[in-house]
This record gives sequence, structure tokens and C-alpha cells, in this order.
Amino acid sequence: MNFLNKITSVFNTYAERNAFCIQNKFYSYTDLLALTASIQTTINSRCPGEQNIGIVIKDDIETYASILAIFFSGKTYIPIHPTYPPERTDQIIEQAGIKFLLSKTDDTSYLGATLIATGYSSDQKNSDIALASFPFEKTNAYILFTSGSTGVPKGVPITYHNLDSFVTAFSALAYEIDCNDRFLQMFELTFDLSVMSYLIPLCHGACVYTIPDSGMKFTNIYNVLSTHKITFALMVPSVLANLRPYFEEIDLPDMRYSLFCGEALYKDVVVEWLRCVPNAVVENVYGPTEATIFCLTYKIEDAATIIEYNGIVTIGTPMQGMEAIVVDDAHQELPDGEKGELCLYGNQLTPGYLNAEKTKDAFFELNGKRYYRTGDITFRNEDGNFIYCGRVDHQVKIQGFRIELSEIEFHLRAITGSSNVVALAVNAPNGMMQITAVFEGEESDTEPTLEALKTKVPPYMIPAAVHFVATFPLNTSGKTDRKALQKMIA
Ligand code: AMP
Repeated sequence: MNFLNKITSVFNTYAERNAFCIQNKFYSYTDLLALTASIQTTINSRCPGEQNIGIVIKDDIETYASILAIFFSGKTYIPIHPTYPPERTDQIIEQAGIKFLLSKTDDTSYLGATLIATGYSSDQKNSDIALASFPFEKTNAYILFTSGSTGVPKGVPITYHNLDSFVTAFSALAYEIDCNDRFLQMFELTFDLSVMSYLIPLCHGACVYTIPDSGMKFTNIYNVLSTHKITFALMVPSVLANLRPYFEEIDLPDMRYSLFCGEALYKDVVVEWLRCVPNAVVENVYGPTEATIFCLTYKIEDAATIIEYNGIVTIGTPMQGMEAIVVDDAHQELPDGEKGELCLYGNQLTPGYLNAEKTKDAFFELNGKRYYRTGDITFRNEDGNFIYCGRVDHQVKIQGFRIELSEIEFHLRAITGSSNVVALAVNAPNGMMQITAVFEGEESDTEPTLEALKTKVPPYMIPAAVHFVATFPLNTSGKTDRKALQKMIA
């Protein structure tokens, strides 16, 4: 049974149960089905021939019903963030060839794309969804755009086969999930961890609890966890860093599964978290967007047995249908214990980026298998666990968001007309990572530059601090010595 058959069966079996809780309002599977069917009818009448359809994402039921309507029609969704810079959105619309965008309201306009209002359609005759017949292997379920080092976002298509393989591999983890579970959905729909957070519960007749947009995000997350007695939560480790001052008071006995993904998980903080979720299985899971949500897992039993390296918890072993190897610069496999780049192969791997040039750089063949180079430095220990050591490049994670520092630098250079600017990720006094822009030369007003940057990149990529250094230090090859620069501004 594929994931769409599972959801169809859930619609029949759990019709009266709640599917979503959004802004404190519950929606049953019957409500979700009716809205999904209605949006599917609208898609069929307005853009039957279109494969790629954008969704202007909001924290509302129409957004999730739009995703399902697209899935049931065998089409591809591309999330469009309404507050990201229009120029970036236009690049996405152009790259994905989007002609139609589903949106609850028509308060926005986008490059050449026609907005289609979602909601109950008056010509909707019944609440049946039609499950289209289409090839899972070749059809994209969604395309997500990640930070691209050359200043243009990189489109990652994920096929129905990839997504279904994730759902199958997830089932093989043997978590005991049923219709009584309550799942946290804390992610923006432009980030693929959101897909697990809504799709797995919908495959089991469970309920998805989203996080309100307004207010402090981390406070909202804790409120939802405790008020709704969440039983399954996939979160980014930054949530822990923010909640840590309150760990003494936090007690979440209903939590059965507490998963972390998206960035390095530190042993010291997760060990303290174990006490906050006394009845939960706690896991560190790992994976890039290119390998569909996550594909390695590591179960954290207790402080004494945790496998860690430099304080970072291991990312564990590959899930069913996926393989991982460590290679050297020449793409040759390294023996256990030797550090190199982690490469992934298997059912969850994207067929390649929208931009074929990027695909050439990131994939290679070895022994008849097509591997994706993650850019993560790891080694495999004697138990077969992959130990995370850092990155080979300038990609960083800030609160789970994937950021190419080179993309920020690209725009800062274009705006200032100078190549003497570097973007660094540094530890702020509150222990959180933040982006810092370092300019070479005399101190000057950077406000206009940062304002201009806001029109190019999403808010999470705007530097939180700015430094000036008279002359950039150089390394032996004459390039800016980023490590030395980092020390100079510390
Ligand atoms: P994204 O495509 O946004 O999911 O980002 C993928 C990248 O996030 C990976 O290549 C890693 O650098 C990082 N990442 C994801 N999960 C983990 C983890 N559990 N531990 C360390 N880094 C992680």
C-alpha cells in the first residue's frame, strides 16, 4: 500500500477523528477530505494540464488540503513563502515553470503566475477524491528550494517514489504510532522536515498540531507540546538550546517519540532533555533535502552510552533502502575510522537538481551506484555508526535553516561592488549561532547594504551582526583566512 492509499483508507476509517489542530481550531478527517476534494475539483477545472503547481503557504487548513489535492492528482507542489523577497520567489517560479499558484487569499501577486483561490468550491458535488494513476518513479511530489552558493536558490525535486520510500523506511523503524497520536508540526513548509510532520500522522489517522505564526516561536512550541500533550515531536536542536533555561520546569510525560534533525545535536543538552521527556524514545536523525527528509537514525538510550564526537551526537546508521559510505576527494571509499565526505545512495535520493549543472557537481557513480555527496564530514566507527564531524564547505545551519554563506557573500558583493566581505557563522553570547558579516576597511554605515540584502534573501539569512577589519588575514594560498578572521572578531 503506498502512502496515498494509506491516506485514502484513513479518510474512510477515521472520518470523525481530528486530522489537524491549527490556531487552536480542530479539523476532522471529514473536513480535510471535503476541502481536499473541493481543491482537486478546482485544479481539474482551472489547470488540468499543469504538472508543477505553487502553493502560497500559510498556517491554515487550505494549505494542507492543497498539498493533498496535488498529491491525489499526481501533480507536484512547490511551496511559496509569502514573506520571502519577491525577487527570490520570482526566481523559483521561473525555475519551476509555475503558471498557477494556489492561495487562500489573493493579496499577493507573483511573476506571471495566476492565483487560484482555494476553499470550498460551489460546483463541488461530493467529497470524493479521485486518486490519479501516474508513474511514482518519474513524477515529482514536491520541489523544494535550498540556499544556492551562486546566489540562485537550488531546486530539489523529490519523486513520489522517493517519498513513498521514506514512508516505508519510516515504518521499518517500528515506532508504535496509531490514531491516538498527536504530532507536532513546527516547520515552515519550505523545509522538508515539515513533510514528515504532516504526512506520517495523516497515514495513521493521527492529529497534526501546527505552531502559531504569531509570538515567540520557541514559546509557542513549548505551549503546544504541553497543552496538547504532544506524543510525537520532530524538532531542530535549536529548540533545545532555547528551552534549556526552563528544563527544570519542563515535564512532558506524554511524549513517546522525541526526534531531532536538521543540525548537529549536542550531547550535553540532549542528556538534560531526557529528563524532560521521561517516557520518550529520543533519536537523532539525519538527512539532506536531497535524500528525502531523513535517512540515518540513532537512538539515544542514556548519557553513559551515547556515541559522540567533539560533543556532537552520532547520526547513526542508514534507514531501510538507503546506503551510506565515506569517500576521499577522489570519490574512493575510505575504510572505517577514516574521515571523509559522507555520500548517500538509495531509494530516497532525488533524481537530481532542476539545474543539471548542479547535479553534475553533487552526484557521482561508484560500482554502478549513483551517490550524492552530502558535504558532511564523517567517519564510520567499528559498530557501523556514522560519526558527524562538520562540513567540507561553507554551508551552515541556523535554527535548522540551510544557508550557504557564499550565497550571502554573493549578494553582499553585488550590492557593495566590493569583494572584500565575508559572511561567517559565529557563536553569539546566548550560545546560538548567528550570521555575521565582516567587511574589510574603515567602519561605515552598513544599514543601506543590509536593507538591500533583505530584498534578495529570506530573513533568516540576514546577518545579525556586522564587523569591520582593517585588512583581511590571508592563508598560505593567498585566500582570505576565514578561521583567522573568525578569531579576530571573537
Ligand atoms: P537540509 O537539506 O536543510 O535538510 O540540510 C541538510 C544538512 O543539515 C545536512 O547535510 C547536515 O549538514 C545537516 N544535518 C541534518 N541533520 C543533522 C544531524 N542530525 N546532525 C548534524 N547535521 C545534520
